[in-house]
Order: sequence, then structure tokens, then C-alpha cells
Amino acid sequence: MDAPTVRPFRIGSQWHNNADPVIRSIYPADGSVAGTVARASPADVDRAVTVAQDAFRSKPWRNLRPDQRASTLYEIGRRIAAERDALARLQMFDSGKPLKECQNMVDSAASYFRYYAAICETWQNEMTSPRGEYFSMSLAEPYGVVAAITPWNSPIMAEAQKAAPALAAGNAVILKPSEETPMLALELARICAEAGLPEGLFTALPGHGEDVGAALVAHPGVRMISFTGGTETGRAIATVAGSRLVPVGLELGGKSPHIVFDDANLPMAMAGVISGIYGSAGQSCVAGTRLFVQRSIYRAFVDELVERSRQVRVGMPDDPAAQMGPLISRAHRERVAAYVDIARAEGGRVLVGGAQPNDSALAKGWFYLPTVIDGLSNRARACQEEIFGPVLVTLPFDDETDLIEQANDTVYGLAAGLWTGDIARAWRVARELQAGSVWINTYKQSHIATAFGGYKDSGIGREKGLHGLRLYSQVKSVFFGVQQKPLAL
Ligand code: NAD
Repeated sequence: MDAPTVRPFRIGSQWHNNADPVIRSIYPADGSVAGTVARASPADVDRAVTVAQDAFRSKPWRNLRPDQRASTLYEIGRRIAAERDALARLQMFDSGKPLKECQNMVDSAASYFRYYAAICETWQNEMTSPRGEYFSMSLAEPYGVVAAITPWNSPIMAEAQKAAPALAAGNAVILKPSEETPMLALELARICAEAGLPEGLFTALPGHGEDVGAALVAHPGVRMISFTGGTETGRAIATVAGSRLVPVGLELGGKSPHIVFDDANLPMAMAGVISGIYGSAGQSCVAGTRLFVQRSIYRAFVDELVERSRQVRVGMPDDPAAQMGPLISRAHRERVAAYVDIARAEGGRVLVGGAQPNDSALAKGWFYLPTVIDGLSNRARACQEEIFGPVLVTLPFDDETDLIEQANDTVYGLAAGLWTGDIARAWRVARELQAGSVWINTYKQSHIATAFGGYKDSGIGREKGLHGLRLYSQVKSVFFGVQQKPLAL
């Protein structure tokens, strides 16, 4: 940890290492300062956009053939992988996530760059069959300067998920990471520079949402906005983008239904439910937060779930035995606890958890116990609003019709999971669920080439795979005339 040193950010060739103002990254496991980062201002946004525009216009990047861009993207991926352990430890201090999870996120970040490098190698534009004495084609072209704004729950991975396809498509990128977790974005910027990405094409600006984030979104030089974060922030960003007529990609919140039918493999379903809610201490957009269990097995399943939740090992992020780390901040833990109080007031029964751990070794951090609540209706606030912590509400259902009505009765539509032994039912229910991703007899799997995004208030657009590349490309159609005679009037 490096509390005394201020980590600078860089705009073009200029380093900014002001000691005031700064952003302090706090290690959520013990409240100590994990790092101090120079804080950008709206004036820095203006400078960064100018530098990015210059780089986009004057540097050969966008005019390189995609296969030529690929070699730099491969190199970025290689360097991320080579620094895996150091990056994962830094991310652990920045976010409080267990070290194992941080290692997985660094691996994912590296693979985003490798994957989009490979896509660049094989990218095809569309040639249309002639309908006259011309031939025509649709070409994917970059927008110019893309603003990427990310949340605190998956630093470096969320950032790479945006930066790799946006750069692959030929854009310049300005990344604003969350003020809670500013450090990994700076490391990514350093690695991009060391890998030979031309100066100005990738800038990380550590700053707050209300000034730096808002200034980026409003800046006339920014031609596309890619945002991951809360639904209300996304709505505010989309409103500005709408008035500016610039495209947005929005990856927003969720309140995902996790469904267990009575014919499911119940031990497998139980393990899926536990990892689906308590992974990342519930600070995951796709966490399975509403558990629907068929009424015939409801009591027995929930009783076992309570026992299993009690056994989840909450511990320090660098403890290999720990299964769940702390929440991101004291304020966030208070918010999670307030939701549990709301659930109690609405008639919910807290069957396990609902408190901080009683463990002196964890007393300085923002830990919260795995929590299961039943006795609520799906309309209760704890069932409708995103809590973003290790809090699971359990709800019985009678049949498919009842289930689908309840599962879809939410403004969100990010993900859903279901467990059943009946493949025809799995297909039927999966088609009815209003969610961008549906897991059948598994949960929270993700694939770099499989599209990811939300229905309804969970977002607009899709990341990953070819969809991810298209998000950062605009289409230009080009017609080549081959007629022998002048065009008729
Ligand atoms: P948040 O919306 O508070 O902040 C996200 C980012 O937006 C931060 O960088 C913040 O500084 C910035 N920001 C805030 N106000 C802004 C403004 N007016 N203009 C521009 N930028 C602004 O979200 P959070 O608390 O950091 O993250 C948690 C949320 O993110 C949860 O709702 C979670 O579901 C969501 N999330 C979604 C996905 C997904 O892929 N769908 C993935 C991870 C997290």
C-alpha cells in the first residue's frame, strides 16, 4: 500500500500529480488508505478530449488495418497477464474483493484485449449484391472520442470490457473509473502506453461522477458514451446523451430472479443459489437476489439454505479460505443494513444474517453477514429495489404462470436463472423471462463472445462478442459506380 505517494494521471504527454485535490482509495477490509490518486477536474476533461481528438484525427490508429491494430491489443493483453499478481493485489486493496476474484478479473481483462485483437484479425465488412451498375458495401467506422464510465464493483474487468472493443474499432477512449476504485484504471493506462498504443488514444481520468463524469458526458467532443453503473445514473446520462444525439451503451442495475423447480437437481441448485447471491458479497449486477422456490419444496429448501448461509466463510480478502469479503464502503454497508430494516418493517422475517459479523478480526472493515429474508411479497421494496449486498429474499411459487408473472414483475431485466430437470420447461420459461441473460441449470456464467446486456431498466445495447465491437462502431455505406453511360435524370 502506498498511502504517502500520490499516483498521477496523464493527459497526452503531461503528468498530473497534484497533491490537492486527491481521491483516497480505502481498503474496505480494514478502512486503511490503500492508495492516493490525483483527482481530475472538469478542466482536465476538456484537455483530455482535445488530446484524444488530436490523437484520433492525426495518429494512424484509425487508419491502420484492423489486423495492424491487433498487434498492439495483443501486447496490452500480454502485459496485463504478465503483471497478474501485482494487479490482482492492487485491485484487492482498491475494492476489497477476495484475491481469487481479483485474479479472475485480471485474467478477464487480459482476455478482452486478446479476444478483440483476434476479432480485428478476422473482421469482415458487408458487401451487398448489386442492384444496378454499382456495387455497395457497409463499413464499420469508429465514432471518434468515446467516454467510458465504470462502477466500483469490477475494476479493470469492466474497464477492459469497454476499452478493448472501443480501441479495436479504432476510437480514442477516455475512461473515468469510479471514485471508490480509481487505481486500476491508471494501471491500465500505463500498460496501454508501454504496449505502444499511440499517445492520447487512452486516457484514464480519476474523478467524481458529478463533476468529471458529468463534464465528459456533456462534452461536445465526446461522440459516444459507454456507461456501466446504477440505473438512475444511467437515466441521467441517457438524458444528456439524448439531447446531444450521441449514442449510448448502458449496462445498469438488476434484481435477478433465481428459480428452483421441484424437479431440479437440488444439491446443484443449492450451490448455484449460494454462489449466485454471495459471490462478490452480492455486489454484482447479476446477483440472483430474488429466490423463487416451488411451493412443494419451499420450506425444506429454504431451511437448508439458511444453514448453508450460516456456513459461508466471511473473511479478509487475502485469506484463501474466505468465501465472502467486505462491502465497498461504510456508507454502502449502511445502505444495505437500511434495506434489511425496511424488509423487517414490511413484515419480512430475517432467517439468518441481517447484521455485521461478530468477529474482532473483521471489526475494522465493512463486512455484512449472508442474509436470507422470507415472508415478503414480490411487491415489497426489498424485492423490487437493488440492494447490492449479500441479501437474498425468498418467495414461493405455485406454477409456471404464477412464477413468470412474479419473476417479470420488476423494472429490471438483466439476468435470470432456473433449475429444472425438464428441458422443455426450461426452454419455455427461459423464453418468457424478460432478461438479457438466462442461465439454465447453472448461474452467473459469462462468455467473452456471448452478448451481455439488459432488458427494460437494466440497460441499452450489448457488450461482449461482435455486439461489443458494433457498439463502438458507426456504419458508413459506400457505393462504387461502374456504369458505362451517364446517369439518367
Ligand atoms: P453509480 O451509478 O453510482 O456510478 C457509476 C459511475 O458513474 C461512477 O464512475 C460514477 O462516478 C459515475 N457517475 C455518477 N454520476 C454521474 C453523472 N451524473 N455523470 C456521469 N458519470 C456519473 O454506480 P456504482 O455505485 O459505482 O455501481 C453500482 C451499480 O452498477 C449497481 O447498480 C450495479 O447493478 C451496476 N452495475 C451494472 C453492471 C452491468 O453490466 N449491467 C455491471 C456492474 C455494475
